[in-house]
Amino acid sequence: MTAWYKETLHAEIEQHIRMDRVLLSERTGHQDLVIFENPLFGRVLALDGAIQTTTRDEFIYHEMMAHVPIIAHGRAKRVLLIGGGDGGALRRVLEHPVDQVVMVEIDRSVVDLSRQWLDSICGTAFDDPRLDLVIADGCAYVAETDKRFDVIIVDSTDPIGPGAVLFTAEFYADCKRCLTPGGVMVNQSGTPFFQEQEFIDVQARLRRSFADVWAYAAAVPAYVGGQMAFGWATDDPSLRQVDTAEIGRRIDAAGIQGRYYGADIHVGSYARPGFLRSLLPTG
Ligand code: SAM
Repeated sequence: MTAWYKETLHAEIEQHIRMDRVLLSERTGHQDLVIFENPLFGRVLALDGAIQTTTRDEFIYHEMMAHVPIIAHGRAKRVLLIGGGDGGALRRVLEHPVDQVVMVEIDRSVVDLSRQWLDSICGTAFDDPRLDLVIADGCAYVAETDKRFDVIIVDSTDPIGPGAVLFTAEFYADCKRCLTPGGVMVNQSGTPFFQEQEFIDVQARLRRSFADVWAYAAAVPAYVGGQMAFGWATDDPSLRQVDTAEIGRRIDAAGIQGRYYGADIHVGSYARPGFLRSLLPTG
């Protein structure tokens, strides 16, 4: 009999993905984790009923999550990555000439099982000597640390379960405190067409702490609902105004060769369709 993974992230619709082979299905202590194979998406990681990543389309999400803020910043040496247990964003961060990446992931099982079953996503990133892997709640970490970072990347689950704290105004205020002057924070902000209120709330909460709040976008096939939004928060509006030629020079200097990401994509991803502009106070 055909088995289907039923994604229950959205109350109004369900996405069903055929499971040709279930590699793992377990309760980790923090969340329900499933890894299965599908002919279209390859290996699929799901947590608590929500698709997290797939080996086929992960490059779109992870390249955009990591390269856009680091290239826009232009001289990032210290990066804080919160969540991202599959290692896909980490691998892209480590393609840059950064000195240190602190990764704070709440669930060690996601890291261990991704290394075992999703190695095409993380590669050897977890072995990189520049990585300081901390198994802890990212919200508690930023509330307590006295370390400072040039770029903060929040590659979180959706605002349910352990990820909920990563969508609060208090967490964003703590991230702001942990940024160096001119630093930038980006976060996973859902698919605004389906998660409209979540997107509005995230942008409003970011505005309480940051002078320049925006979002950039990419369509990621496994995340239903059209374009996926990445929240953008900094006190330096010039980071969002670097032109295509300069972005291209920085990409070449860093030796980044994206399968999705490039200078045109970088600059174009800041464009907001009219329906998103109308959702936001200063859009
Ligand atoms: N790309 C995915 C998406 O769009 O939903 C996110 C992928 S990544 C696997 C999300 C990670 O965030 C998970 O490994 C989860 O354990 C981690 N996470 C959730 N809540 C967290 C918290 N409070 N602190 C640190 N990591 C957290």
